Amino acid sequence: MPEIDFFHLTDAGCVREGNEDAIGCWPCEDGLVFAVADGLGVHNAGEVASALALEVLADQLQDESAGTPLAKRLRNGVQQANLRIYNKSTTVPELRHMGTTLTATSVVGDTLVTAHVGDCRLYLLRDGSLAQLTKDHTWVWEQVQYGILSVEEARKHPKRHMLSRALGQGLIVPIDTLTMKVRPGDVLIQCSDGIHGLLPDNEIMEVMSSSPQADAACRAFVHRARDRGGDDNLSVQIACVTSCSPSPPKSSWWRFGR
Ligand code: MN
Repeated sequence: MPEIDFFHLTDAGCVREGNEDAIGCWPCEDGLVFAVADGLGVHNAGEVASALALEVLADQLQDESAGTPLAKRLRNGVQQANLRIYNKSTTVPELRHMGTTLTATSVVGDTLVTAHVGDCRLYLLRDGSLAQLTKDHTWVWEQVQYGILSVEEARKHPKRHMLSRALGQGLIVPIDTLTMKVRPGDVLIQCSDGIHGLLPDNEIMEVMSSSPQADAACRAFVHRARDRGGDDNLSVQIACVTSCSPSPPKSSWWRFGR
């Protein structure tokens, strides 16, 4: 069973009236799933979409038998959430065109799985260096990949919030999945664009080195983003892996489950 120091926080920021971000975390097998969603839509439709995404994901994780691999369960959860949001947005006039991003990460044993759509990010801080594990599904990220914009230009570009992928826009959504091993000392930082849009990598590292505990670090991220103007909703989830045991082989999982 992994031992994880986990905390998360969401804040409307300094400019927006409502908070269209949603965060959730649930126990899963002998580990943890945590997810962040950033809703889009007029009036409060974005709030409806991000809350619905987490609700459907949580239900799906509970329903599916523990025999189904986690990567598949997470993907199914995201796909179900997409469908529910799409159906609602096409049948309820006030919720027309609503959508949301969704990034969901599980840590079970020593294995991390992430299912990701949109521009929330998952970072890994390991041995003093920070890596962004997810790709942003945004127009500017594509321009950076093509070499048209630099990372710095993309950060300041007026179209930086324009998504190339989100839940609720069609019957099926393409989902990025990532599976990797974690080890003691790893820190996972999952956040909405309100945080990473204001705090570049060097500031994320600064915050983590001055506040290594998950709860203090979450508060420090929100504080710092608010100091920078907090022009968007701010959400951050931090999981510090303090110990983890290798995942048991598949056969013993089966024996255990029956
Ligand atoms: Mn946002």
